[in-house]
Amino acid sequence: MSIKENYKAIQDQLTSGAQLVAVSKTHPVSAIQEVYDLGQRVFGENKVQELMEKAPLLPQDIQWHLIGHLQTNKVKYIAPFIDTIQSVDSEKLLAEINKEAGKNNRSIKVLLQVKIAAEESKFGLEISEAKAIFKQYIDGNFPHIEITGLMGMATFTDNEPQIRKEFLTLKMLFDELNQLKSLKTLSMGMSDDFPVAIECGANSVRVGSAIFGRRDYFQ
Ligand SMILES: *Cc1c(COP(=O)(O)O)cnc(C)c1O
Repeated sequence: MSIKENYKAIQDQLTSGAQLVAVSKTHPVSAIQEVYDLGQRVFGENKVQELMEKAPLLPQDIQWHLIGHLQTNKVKYIAPFIDTIQSVDSEKLLAEINKEAGKNNRSIKVLLQVKIAAEESKFGLEISEAKAIFKQYIDGNFPHIEITGLMGMATFTDNEPQIRKEFLTLKMLFDELNQLKSLKTLSMGMSDDFPVAIECGANSVRVGSAIFGRRDYFQ
């Protein structure tokens, strides 16, 4: 299928009105432009350098989301323009984003990335850490950021009950924090599992290969 057909097919499946973040990592600006021309405005990249190379070549009204692990020393490069950083996995990183957002006289939206997968390798906060950071945020410790929600990745497996259980764990935390201060975004689900994620309460999904085709390498 073409990118256009893929894109339409995904949109048809987002019946709940969930936000689509088109994950364009490893794909060329020409492919991103093609999806932009179909009306998509929110794109996700997972590497700062790749994002910095592509963003200037594309329309300025794209809302870029960073979805990959971010080193504190790279925050300054994206702070002037990034819309949302979905992959906040430490308090140190949050403090750095707050600092750089302040320098740029702007507020940066972030999601706390919570570890819900069984796999060892996935980045993310423990649930207890996410709660502690959110408390500090409510106390006013990070005035230049807005925590708009949570992000999580399920285990890479065919075991749907397990995936569902992991997504529901994040949904429970979302509901709990949402009582303390209102949250907008629950980002869960990728090409292979976004319909399950939506059933479990996701209102934002990050879809790459189901739009752009397979990547040459997994990252
Ligand atoms: C690559 C990536 C995605 C998209 O993965 P697909 O399987 O291609 O849809 C979503 N979220 C994160 C954090 C990613 O790194």
